[in-house]
Amino acid sequence: MQKGAIRVQTENIFPIIKKFLYSDHEIFIRELVSNAVDATQKLKTLASVGEFKGELGNIDIEVRLDKEKKTITIADHGVGMTAEEVDKYINQVAFSGAEEFLKKYKGQENGTNIIGHFGLGFYSSFMVSSKVEIFSRSWKDGAAAVRWECDGSPEYELEEVTKEERGTEIVMHINEESEEFLDEGRIRSILTKFCKFLPVPVKFEGQQLNNTTPAWTKKPSELTTEDYQNFYKELYPFAEAPLFWIHLNVDYPFSLTGILYFPKITKSYEIQKDKINLYSNQVYVTDEVKDIVPEFLMLLHGVIDSPDIPLNVSRSYLQGDPNVKKINAHITKKVADKLDEMFRNDRKGFEEKWESIGLFVKYGMMTDDKFMDKANKFLVLENVDGGTFYTREEYKAAAEALQTNKEGKLVILYATNPVQQDSYVQAAKNKGFVVVKMETLVDAAFISNIEAKWENVQFTRVDADIADNLIDKDENNNTVLTADQEGKLKEIFTAQVTQPNIKVELKGLNADAQPVIVTRPEFMRRMKDMASMGGGGMSWYAAMPD
Ligand code: ADP
Ligand code: MG
Repeated sequence: MQKGAIRVQTENIFPIIKKFLYSDHEIFIRELVSNAVDATQKLKTLASVGEFKGELGNIDIEVRLDKEKKTITIADHGVGMTAEEVDKYINQVAFSGAEEFLKKYKGQENGTNIIGHFGLGFYSSFMVSSKVEIFSRSWKDGAAAVRWECDGSPEYELEEVTKEERGTEIVMHINEESEEFLDEGRIRSILTKFCKFLPVPVKFEGQQLNNTTPAWTKKPSELTTEDYQNFYKELYPFAEAPLFWIHLNVDYPFSLTGILYFPKITKSYEIQKDKINLYSNQVYVTDEVKDIVPEFLMLLHGVIDSPDIPLNVSRSYLQGDPNVKKINAHITKKVADKLDEMFRNDRKGFEEKWESIGLFVKYGMMTDDKFMDKANKFLVLENVDGGTFYTREEYKAAAEALQTNKEGKLVILYATNPVQQDSYVQAAKNKGFVVVKMETLVDAAFISNIEAKWENVQFTRVDADIADNLIDKDENNNTVLTADQEGKLKEIFTAQVTQPNIKVELKGLNADAQPVIVTRPEFMRRMKDMASMGGGGMSWYAAMPD
C-alpha cells in the first residue's frame, strides 16, 4: 500500500484561478480593497492589545489611477508584510493569513472583523493585470520594505526596497483586454458598489467614498427614527419614505446584523425586487438574496450583513448552507414578532398600514407554515365599508350566528370589487352578514390556500351561488335601488359590454323592480381569477403557489 499527498502543478492551476475565480472581473477591486481593510483592522487590533505601540497616523486607503502608465494602485497603511510574510501569504496560493490571524486574535476588538477567508482574493488581480507589484513595509520595528513582482506565471521576484510609509501598495499593470478599468467613472462606480460602507476610509481622487459607520453597525438604542430614515435615503435616494423597519442583531449561533425596511405598497406600486443588499463585514457581496431572505420578504428593502454567509461561492451552494437556512428562519421569525408587536401595541397604526403589510402577511401565510401560525393572530380582514378590521377570531364572533353553513363551517363573505358587487353587498348586509374586502391581487390565491389550512372556514364571494344559498330563498330579497346605485349600475354595464354580439337591456331600474342578477359557480370563478393573474409586470405573483 502507498499513501501520499496530492501534488498540484502551479503551471496548470494558475490559469484556472485567473479564469474561473470570479465570473465578474470587477471583483478584483473588492478583493484588494478588502485586503487593505483587513490589514488596517489588524493593525488596530495589534494597537488595542498593546503589541503595536506606534502612531496609527493616517489609515486611509487610497485608490489611484494612472492612465498613462496604465496602472491601478491600492495603497493602505495597515500591518504591511515582511519578506517572510510575502513568501508565506502571497507565494503560497490559498494559504489564508486572515484565517490564521483570526484564530490568534479571536475575541479582541476588531479581531474578528476580517474579511478574507480563502486566501485567493489577491490573485483576482491577475484577472485584469499583465503584471502585479507589491510594495510593502511591515509595522514591525526594523523590518525592511520589500517589492514583489509577478507577471502571472508561477515565477516571482522578491527584493528589498526603500519605502517610507508603513503599509502596502499593490500596483496592477492593467492588461490590454481590461483597459475598460482605466476609467475614472468605472472605478468610481465599482468602488461605490462594493466599498460604500467599508469600515476604513477609502479615497479615490482625493474624495472619501464610504460611510464607515452605517446605521446597521450601530446598536438600535443609539439610533433615532430619523437616523433610520436617513439611512434609507442613503440607500435609495429617490424612494418614498419607508413604513417601518426591523433592525436585526444576532451574535449566536450565527452572526447577523442588518436593517430591513418595509416599503409603502399601494395599488399602483411597482414591484421592485433585489432591493436587499447582502454584505459581509461591510463589504458588498450581492443583491441576490434568494434563499437567505424568505421568498415572501423579497420585496423588503435594506441591508443584511453576515460574515457567516460564504462570500465567493456559487448560488447552488448557498441553498444547502446550514447558516443560510438558519438566517432565513431567523428573519421570518423577526418579521413575525415585529408585526405581532405592532399589532398588539398600536392596533390602529397597524391597521392603517395594512394595505402595505397585508401583502407580505398573506404571501407569508401561504408559503411558510411557521409564519402562518403566528400571523393567524394578526391577519386582519377589512370590512367592505372600510375602517373596521377583524382578526379571524373577531370575524367569527361577529358572524358565526348567521353565517354558519350546513356543514358547520364559518362562511366568510367577501367582495372582490365592492363597487361592482354593491347590490350583492347590500343584500348581504340587509341579512345581517359581515362582508369583507378581498380586492388585492394576492387575495384570490390567498383564499384558496388559506381555506385549505384553516379548519372549519369557507370563503364565499358575496355574489356566488353559495352566498345566494346562504340567503334564505323563501324570503323576498329584492333590493330597492337608490338613484345613486342605479347610476353606478348603468355605468358598470356600459363599461362591461365589449363584445358586439352581446346586447344589454336595462329594464325597470326603479322602485322595487330587480335588475338581472347573474351568479356563477364559485369554482369556475376561482379558476378564471387564477388564470388571469400574473400578467402586466406583476410576474412576481405568478410564481405564487396556489
Ligand atoms: P485572504 O484575504 O482570503 O486571506 P488573499 O489572497 O486576499 O486571501 O490574501 C492573502 C494574504 O495576503 C492575506 O491573508 C494577508 O495575509 C496578505 N495580504 C494581502 N493583501 C495585504 C495587504 N494589503 N496588507 C497586508 N497583508 C496583505
Ligand atoms: Mg482577501
